Amino acid sequence: MPKEKRQVTLPPEEMPKRWYNILPDLPEQLPPPQDPETGESRIKALPELLIGECLKQEFSTERWIDIPEDLIDLYMQAGRPRPLFRALSLEKRLGTPARMYYKGEFFSPTGSHKVNTAIAQSFYAREEGYERVTTETGAGQWGTALAYGASLAGLKCTVFWVRAVYNWKADRRSLMEMYGAEVNASPSDKTDVGRSLFEKNPNHNGSLGIAISEGLEDAKKDKRAIYCLGSVLNHVLMHQTIIGLETKKQFEIFGDYPDLVISCLGGGSNFGGFAIPFVHDVLKEGKKTKFIAAQSQVSPNLQGEYRYDFADYAEQTPLLKMYTLGHKIEMGPIKGDGLRYHGCSPILSLLRNKGYLDTIAYPQDEKKVFDLAKIFLQSEGYLPAPESAYSIACAIEEALKCKKTGEEKVIAFNVSGHGFLDMPGYREVLGLA
Ligand SMILES: *Cc1c(COP(=O)(O)O)cnc(C)c1O
Repeated sequence: MPKEKRQVTLPPEEMPKRWYNILPDLPEQLPPPQDPETGESRIKALPELLIGECLKQEFSTERWIDIPEDLIDLYMQAGRPRPLFRALSLEKRLGTPARMYYKGEFFSPTGSHKVNTAIAQSFYAREEGYERVTTETGAGQWGTALAYGASLAGLKCTVFWVRAVYNWKADRRSLMEMYGAEVNASPSDKTDVGRSLFEKNPNHNGSLGIAISEGLEDAKKDKRAIYCLGSVLNHVLMHQTIIGLETKKQFEIFGDYPDLVISCLGGGSNFGGFAIPFVHDVLKEGKKTKFIAAQSQVSPNLQGEYRYDFADYAEQTPLLKMYTLGHKIEMGPIKGDGLRYHGCSPILSLLRNKGYLDTIAYPQDEKKVFDLAKIFLQSEGYLPAPESAYSIACAIEEALKCKKTGEEKVIAFNVSGHGFLDMPGYREVLGLA
């Protein structure tokens, strides 16, 4: 009996060999970073803050950027290409006429899509002679990904981890340490900015903005160290386009094309990586695909103001034009910690401002989001990261709308990571024993 195709996996030689840089194709020029009116120039300091090659990529107007051969090998080692699934069982369970497809970024060695840029940044850092990388992490996924990338590249790695999350994810902490990273709860007593907050309150919950400031300061004070950022910036989204470029090829093999592209959005790296190759088709080839970013009501940055703001709490970065809630904002706790960031990447912010990007924000208690993720788990079998649960929830809600209207929409959603190290979060919200 002929069955509908359930998944498409590309052979290794079909993996994209170039990243897509959307900068030359945006509807208007991306507003450049700016310096604040007072204080020293953050823009002049950029070469000390970022890896040289990444800085070059950040402002490049080349549409396609070759992935170095050694990096292609590292992508293979990390298990790329990753499958695109047709969610046949979920469709059946929902009784929807929609055709649903999801990308399996959860097949990542550390649990998330973040390895796609972590191995690139670690690779370039080693090429440029650095011995250590520093960074912040929120949910812990980025810290783990960079610890992994650094270990493959033979670099040391120092992670500043938002304390509220550090405290409940002991297993992820141990994993980072097994990769050889040094992990600090942030605010820590290792940096000036950390100490100023830590001394007032040693139990300070911390925030991504504060942890970024600590990572930056640590790297600035050590010539052999360089800071790495896991989201928001143009070059990070570009590295992540490997997700969407693979997905496009896979859709061709399925003989289908998405009407709706969905993912969760914190700073924008998985959403951007997944969606941007399809945004290209809308901007350049007249496709009518719609895009929805799923967020939390504690950090609905796409509903903030579109203006220049700092990327970090201590104002060490240049000002970026983005949708922001303000870089000093305090956000309530959620289990999908990776979505707690005050600003959205400048590229996606511009697309939002031009009307290409819709958004939905889910309540802080996360009950509905996790209940919908459970339907995905029970029908498709994969345990999503709490952040990815937002992407799934949004896709399911859109599929249920199709059930009402009878529309046979094609819905593509990204499952950015797995949740095996996040069970305490699920247990708490879902009231499991
Ligand atoms: C970090 C993270 C996110 C959110 O960050 P983006 O940069 O917006 O992608 C989403 N999902 C997972 C699994 C993450 O680790």
